[in-house]
Amino acid sequence: MIQSEFDGRIMSAAYEQADSEGEESLRPRRLADYIGQSKIKGNLEIYIQAAKSRGECLDHCLLYGPPGLGKTTLAGIIANEMDANIVITSGPAMEKAGDLAAILTNLQRGDVLFIDEIHRLSRALEERLYNAMEDYVVDIFVGKGAAAKSIQIDLPRFTLIGATTRAGQLSSPLKSRFGVEMRLEMYTPEELCGIVRRSAGILGIPIEPEGVEEIAMRSRGTPRIANRLLKRVRDFAQVKGNGVIDRKIARVALAALEIDELGLDNIDRLMLTSIIENYGGGPVGLETLAASIGEEAITLENVYEPYLLQMGFISRTPRGRTATVNAYRHLGIPMSGGDQLSFEV
Ligand code: ADP
Repeated sequence: MIQSEFDGRIMSAAYEQADSEGEESLRPRRLADYIGQSKIKGNLEIYIQAAKSRGECLDHCLLYGPPGLGKTTLAGIIANEMDANIVITSGPAMEKAGDLAAILTNLQRGDVLFIDEIHRLSRALEERLYNAMEDYVVDIFVGKGAAAKSIQIDLPRFTLIGATTRAGQLSSPLKSRFGVEMRLEMYTPEELCGIVRRSAGILGIPIEPEGVEEIAMRSRGTPRIANRLLKRVRDFAQVKGNGVIDRKIARVALAALEIDELGLDNIDRLMLTSIIENYGGGPVGLETLAASIGEEAITLENVYEPYLLQMGFISRTPRGRTATVNAYRHLGIPMSGGDQLSFEV
């Protein structure tokens, strides 16, 4: 228990320490610096202001969205704006009931507890979380065998922020215990330009507006990818160019990274060509598709599919995934046979 009690705090310390380098240095700290997601930001501003003026904690919040869209960042911002501490953990990091109890009993009044991948909490832990969220109590078991008994411990008021990649993966009893639900949208090219400009400013990378645009357009609507591409393109600009990111060097770098003009990488293209060439355009089940290209189904579903759906390259049917006419066009594969017209979106 003490070990896990530590886990929660260590993770939060790691969040702070890692701040000076890598991804962490680019995380906005305040709502005003968080680019895009204007609907969410507008509502959050009101919820935060109202809770603060009542001297209360913010209601428990649930954040949905594919990886890299800014869920962890937003949780950190909420804590900052509420002048609260944040404790960070994740569903898979907690195995035993004691792990969760240790983190909960260590919370101070007003703390934000961020549970990433909350849909991966075991059923037993999920049920314990219900009491903590609703009644601010947790049951702890002490002793062993016949002498074992459970003690109920009161918890201070806290805000739970849960993050999940897919709305459908969360059980409805858990979902219903969140007072605020926020679905993060993929970012527009203009918003991604803002993110690339901001990150380049923080990292001191000289970049021209055309370079910003080139990176933003190929970032799959995702800030984490925009930041990653920016750093990789910077490497090319330093070694193969004059250190400044312009359109030309950005194109050279992105071609070397095998990222096409719409941001599709090798796995995206493999997924689409496999549906088209091995399964006649689909429908094909996700597991079958994953096995045929050697990736995990969960990765395809959470990481690759959201963007391909958004771009209109695949569609989801009850019988599996199908490639759309846009996918054929993008890959330059001719559509043969009249029945394939049914793939059109
Ligand atoms: P998630 O938790 O959804 O996987 P993160 O919160 O870790 O995503 O975000 C990944 C990175 O993207 C962060 O390091 C941050 O720099 C950047 N980022 C995310 N959202 C924004 C935003 N709205 N404005 C600016 N940068 C962002």
